[in-house]
Order: sequence, then C-alpha cells, then structure tokens
Amino acid sequence: MLQTRSSQQFDVCIVGSGAGGGMTAYALTRAGARVVMLEAGPEWWSTKNSTMLLPNSASPRRGGATRLRPFGEFDACDGGWEVEGEPYTRAEGTTFDWWRARMLGGRTNHWGRISLRFGPDDFRGKSIDGLGDDWPIGYDDVKPFYDRVDDLVGIFGSVEGLRNHPDGHFHPPPKPRCYELLVKKASDKLGVTCIPARLSVITKPHRGRPACHYCGQCNRGCAVNANFSSPEILLRPALATGRLRLLTNAMAREVTVGPNGLATGVSYIDKATGEDRHVRASIVVLAASACESARLLLNSKSSQFPQGLANTSGVVGKHLTDTTGTDVAGFIPSMVDHVPHNEDGVGGGHVYMPWWLDNKKLDFPRGYHIEVWGGLGQPSYGFMGGIHRYPGAGGYGKKLKDDYRRFYGATIGFSGRGEQLPNDDCYCDLDPRVVDQWGIPVLRFHWKWTDHEYNQVKHMQETFRALIAEMGGQVFSPMPTREQGYGIAAGGRIIHELGCVRMGADPKTSALNGWSQAHDCKNLFVTDGGPFVTQCDKNPTWTILALAWRTSDYIAEQRKQGTL
Ligand SMILES: Cc1cc2nc3c(=O)[nH]c(=O)nc-3n(C[C@H](O)[C@H](O)[C@H](O)COP(=O)(O)OP(=O)(O)OC[C@H]3O[C@@H](n4cnc5c(N)ncnc54)[C@H](O)[C@@H]3O)c2cc1C
Ligand code: SF4
Repeated sequence: MLQTRSSQQFDVCIVGSGAGGGMTAYALTRAGARVVMLEAGPEWWSTKNSTMLLPNSASPRRGGATRLRPFGEFDACDGGWEVEGEPYTRAEGTTFDWWRARMLGGRTNHWGRISLRFGPDDFRGKSIDGLGDDWPIGYDDVKPFYDRVDDLVGIFGSVEGLRNHPDGHFHPPPKPRCYELLVKKASDKLGVTCIPARLSVITKPHRGRPACHYCGQCNRGCAVNANFSSPEILLRPALATGRLRLLTNAMAREVTVGPNGLATGVSYIDKATGEDRHVRASIVVLAASACESARLLLNSKSSQFPQGLANTSGVVGKHLTDTTGTDVAGFIPSMVDHVPHNEDGVGGGHVYMPWWLDNKKLDFPRGYHIEVWGGLGQPSYGFMGGIHRYPGAGGYGKKLKDDYRRFYGATIGFSGRGEQLPNDDCYCDLDPRVVDQWGIPVLRFHWKWTDHEYNQVKHMQETFRALIAEMGGQVFSPMPTREQGYGIAAGGRIIHELGCVRMGADPKTSALNGWSQAHDCKNLFVTDGGPFVTQCDKNPTWTILALAWRTSDYIAEQRKQGTL
C-alpha cells in the first residue's frame, strides 16, 4: 500500500488523547520532549463546545438519548456502543459491549469524575486472598503521583483516614443534598459507611480556574473549566509549550518496528483524506484505551514479532476485566410533595459508600462501592422512568401534571461498582474475518462472569433493597434471580474495561514491566488502562492518570540518561 511518510522525527508519538494520552503529553512536553499525538476523533474543547447551560426544553427531543448520544442529546461524547465503520464482534455466547469515544480527550469529556485512589490492598490482592495476581508495584510507588494529580487537576473530598481508601489533597466537598441526607441516615442505621464523594471538580478557585457554580451538568463538559477533561487541563498547557503537534482525525493502524526490533513510529489513516500515513518517533506510547491499545499491538505483526508486538508472552488481549455493576431504585414516600428547596450541586453524587465489609465473612472475594442518585435533576424526555411506576399516578391532563409535580424528586437509586477478578474466559483477540472501514482487523470479545461476580452482585442487590426499606421506600423492581444473573450489567457496560496489556515482573506472564514499558521492545510504553493487573472496585481514571505521569517521568529520566 502507498504510504506517505513524514520526514520529521519526533521524540515521542502518543496514540490517543484521553486520560492516559493527555497526561503523558502534559508530562513529556514539560520535560522537553517533542511530541506528536495521533487522535482518531476531531478537536473538542469544553470551554468552546460545551452545551452546559442549554435547557433540555431547547430541543424538540427534550435532551433525550439519540443513537449517537446514548447518554443524552447534550452529553459531551462523540461515540457510543457502536461507532460507524468501526465494528467489533463477540464470540458465540458472549455478551459484551464496548464503549468508544472518538474525539479529542476521549471519554474524559463526559465521564462521571468519580476520582478514587486504589488502596494498598488493591495492589496486592493475591497476597491477601490467593486470587488473581499482585501488581509488581505498590501503593507507595504510586502515591506521589496521586498527590501530584490531585494538586494539578483539583479534587474534592473529605479526610477520613480509611486504610484502604486513601485520602488525597482535597478541596472542601459540597454539602449533601436532601435525599442524600436520607441515604446517610439509613446507611448509619445499617452500618454502611457513607462519606462525602470524591470528584475531580474544584470547589474553590484553582490554578486560574474558577470554582464550580453547581449547575449539575458535568457530563456536558464544563464551559468554565471547573472539572477535569484532558483537553482543557492537560493538552492546553502541553500545546502552550510549543512542543506538542496534535494530529486529529488520525486513526492509528499499527506500530512499526525496525530491524533491531525497536519501534520506529506509527502508521495511521488520515480520516479526512483516507490517506495511509506514517509518523516517525524515537519512543511510542499507546494510550488509545485498554482494548484499542491491545488491538494496535495485535495488529503490529512483523517477522520479528509474528504474534504482534509486546506479545511474546501471549498475554496481549488477555486478563480483560470490567467493573461489576447493578442498580436498584425506589420510590420514597416521605419525599412526595416536598417543600421546594435548592438541590444545586455538581454533576454527580455528593456522597458515596466505600467498601465497608470483610470478605472473609462473605461468599465472594473483593469489594464494591456504592454510588447514589436521585433528586431534582433537569427533566428530560422519559425522566422518572414513566409515571405509571408511582402508586396511583398517571392518567391525563391536570392529574397527570400534578402527579409529575408530586412525585418529582421522590426517587432514590443505588449503583454498585465492584471488582471483577481476571479469568481465562474474559479476553479479546483479533477476529480472523472482520475488518473495519480501513481494512484493519477488529477485536472479537469473549466473556463469562464467574460465581465470584454473581455472588457479589447478589449482595449489592440485597444491600440496596435494605437501604430503600430503611428509608420507608418501595423498590420498583423485584429481586432478580440467579437465572437473571442477579441483575449484573453485561461485560463492558460499566465502561471501566482494563487489562489486556498487563504489567508484571515476569516477561513470560506479562507484556509490560512495572514502568509500563514493553518487555520485548524497550521504546514502547502503554499509559491507558491496559497495564492494570487487577480491576479493584475503585473507578480507574485517577490511577490511569497517576500511572501515566509515573511512566512519563521514567521516560524523561531514561532519555536524560541516553538509554532511550
Ligand atoms: C459515561 C462514563 C462515565 C464514566 N465515569 C467514570 C468515573 O466517574 N470515574 C472514573 O474513574 N472513570 C469513569 N469512566 C471511565 C473513564 O472515562 C475512562 O477510564 C478513561 O477515560 C480512560 O482513559 P483512556 O485514556 O484509557 O481512554 P479514553 O479516554 O477513551 O481515550 C482514548 C482516546 O484514544 C483515541 N483512539 C482510540 N483508538 C485510536 C486509534 N487507533 N488511533 C488514534 N486514536 C485512537 C480515542 O478517540 C480517544 O480519544 C467513565 C466512562 C464513561 C463513558
Ligand atoms: S457542576 Fe460545576 S464542574 Fe460541573 S459543569 Fe457545572 S460548573 Fe462545571
């Protein structure tokens, strides 16, 4: 195939501009490297493109979901479960859905901003219960980088001193809303730890950015820059150094290698012209999201690396995990006909429940945390899930309108987010028959939950039902059965897919070393969720950011020493 090759040689080529890619670009440009970034989507800047203050009523669809915006019409994500021209497949019997963002900043434009550190136990699960594997690094290795991420990005929370839920450098948290006070009361009664949430939203001015004004629209991107997105917080300062060259609409195809087995750059499709191009760099960093980075490696076949790059161990694509999840919502009679009150806040919960139990006394390993939702959000098409769910409500005309007013804000919901252990049946490989619109082989997913996850999710369901009962509420749906998987969300649905390019001390069982550097190819690194050894119940992005900064510092140091 005819390929346009760039004559310019960059120090580093980064693929992907989300959490991992943005942080790598930020740290490496500051360290003096000349960086080129390939991003498959177009530019998007929340301070320019956000629809933060647009009312849902401004649209004939009232802000409801569309095919291209499954989280709502004004949500800040171009992408979704299906991306036109970029299919993926599922092995027989597999249910797995893969969310992909295609825009500058990736999923960091609309993510939930729940920003949790992994705790010391989360890096050494095998040593504790014999399951899965330990990481080759520990909390103390990552802690200085979590601290730096807190200071750079800004995060609110409360200092609690909980051993496996480390505190950070927090801004003050917003006060609990009315319904969250009810949840706190019920949690205290049932012995469930309930504390202020930890979100990367600033509640006081921070490094030239204004404090959040509590419009509650974080998933639309913040027009005043009071929450975290990769373009505004990481890429803007990286561009300001003059050392970042941003190539958008550039779909990476494979990492190229020279006769010495080292990476020489990345070939990509210029989506605007359809041209096949190549960019040269002394170091390649993949941050295209865990599964896409695995796909790139598996597609980077050469005579030296016939199984794909960084894959002598055969683990690329293996050890894929997602967070376990299930939801329960209920109607709370004491909140009907409430006194109108101000429930403004951030675009997410103001409280959450970190894992509070001891697995030795339970029939599943590893924990989960609970996210809380409810309140008086801006109504959109289909809000409240249908008025027929509320006792005696419905009908036409005035009664219908009155019922909506009476029951508005009287729903509380809980979402469990738990740790899945890697297992041999959860992985992705290349589909031997299917290619995308540019002829690049696509991923095929394989997925099977085990009893560990089913039992954990059963426990979530029981806990959420007990909390709703404690509040005097009525749950909307019956307890799902074992045959219904206790309501477990399908693989991929919680959008925390991790692993596939895991790190480890042993090159026979891992693709990367503890610096996220390929065992097989010393100038190749991965800084998205690919290197994760275990999932942990904490949402992954704060750890992706901290690890990406740690790897970038290592790259900068190695360049200084002349070893890279
Ligand atoms: C609705 C939602 C809510 C979430 N809430 C939370 C939360 O509260 N807390 C949390 O920790 N996490 C949350 N997440 C997950 C979080 O968004 C991800 O963990 C994080 O964004 C992953 O960062 P990344 O850099 O690996 O990938 P991404 O942010 O997905 O970025 C990858 C980038 O690479 C680009 N790319 C992909 N393939 C190629 C290619 N071949 N060539 C060039 N570019 C490519 C993509 O276009 C994209 O811009 C949420 C996700 C979603 C969707
Ligand atoms: S709630 Fe705060 S951080 Fe979120 S979009 Fe509004 S102002 Fe920005």
